[in-house]
Amino acid sequence: MTDVFGDLVGQDEAVAMLRRAAASAAALLRAPVTSPAGGHDDLDALAEEHDGDPGPAAPADPGGGMTHAWIFTGPPGSGRSVAARAFAAALECVHGTGCGTCPGCHTTLAGTHADVRLVVPEGLSIGVNEMRALVLRAASAPSGGRWQIVIIEDADRLTEAAGNALLKAIEEPPPRTVFLLCAPSTHPDDISVTIRSRCRVVPLRQPPPAAVAEVLVRRDGIAPDVAEWAAAAAQGHVGRARRLARDPEARQRRDAVLAVPRRLTGVGAAFDAASALIEAAEAEAAASVAEIDEAERTALQTALGAGGTGRGAAGAMRGAAGQLKDLEKRQKSRATRAQRDALDRALVDLAGFYRDALIMALRAPVAPVHTDTASLASAGAQKWDAEGSLRRLEAVLECRAAIEANVKPRIAVEAMMLALWRG
Ligand SMILES: [Zn+2]
Repeated sequence: MTDVFGDLVGQDEAVAMLRRAAASAAALLRAPVTSPAGGHDDLDALAEEHDGDPGPAAPADPGGGMTHAWIFTGPPGSGRSVAARAFAAALECVHGTGCGTCPGCHTTLAGTHADVRLVVPEGLSIGVNEMRALVLRAASAPSGGRWQIVIIEDADRLTEAAGNALLKAIEEPPPRTVFLLCAPSTHPDDISVTIRSRCRVVPLRQPPPAAVAEVLVRRDGIAPDVAEWAAAAAQGHVGRARRLARDPEARQRRDAVLAVPRRLTGVGAAFDAASALIEAAEAEAAASVAEIDEAERTALQTALGAGGTGRGAAGAMRGAAGQLKDLEKRQKSRATRAQRDALDRALVDLAGFYRDALIMALRAPVAPVHTDTASLASAGAQKWDAEGSLRRLEAVLECRAAIEANVKPRIAVEAMMLALWRG
């Protein structure tokens, strides 16, 4: 059986929690309206049932009940947005279970359900105007008669003002509106304490490599040995594992990153390696956004009637210039994000290598991340010992933290390469 939760790899506890909530939400929709006032908050009614005597419509487990605001947390690749979409589908499912085949499930997963809005930040942050418009639309009654759902991917990229607009909506939720936020963690850097206090948290864990490999074999038809290698190399990131298994270019980029430790033979080589890493990230990012950038530009030019010469064309062109400028700004912001993401993937691969050296120096009974560079890591372990391996691992992690804190990537990567060379 593959229902909407089938794509959540290695997250049994979270899935059980979401199933209970979906059942509870469905019971709520079936329950007769008890409030004569009409404006009663359905979810409050459910919460009251939990607090007091659970009625027949309420589930036995109060913690598994429905609520109007959720945060899905977990490391990148653990499936935060997959979980949020699956839960949204279960809420819109005509059977209330997330069967995976009814129109409610199908349109939600396909992104075409009229009552489900998905915010995917393209740039470095989600702005206040976008959030206000969204909150306004989410306040309307669900057209399908079930729930209005807003999914915010990367809620940690909300601007402060956007966060406040969202908080207001979460504090005074319309009766049938559900907010699903995704963030790396509930740390105040990722999500404000006040928003956090209004939400139920669904913690996702890094799925074990065996579970990732299993899904690659079962769903994507990847050969078991390739799936196992990719799952280990991707360190629990399902999407990354799939890309490594399928995309030769992704494998080549990874190989180039893992060749770095061998190439650090001097100061010059360290700077060369830094340049190579930065340029590879830029190239990867450019390739990933080029297609969509071009499509957006063409679509906008068509919509604006590019090349028109009739009456009013001059005025239209002035307006068009503004819109084109807006688009370019958005695209630049997205390109920056894509570069940082690509660089971060490279740094995670590199950290995996030094982590392998560390566990080998410590003779820890743990499987290496990168099976294909295990002998190189073993040589490193002998040369550097545990302490030297740990210092190098820390240098990579410090570089990630510095870039996250807005240090210029080139400067952070150069400092890291020198630290890796010096040891
Ligand atoms: Zn369904």
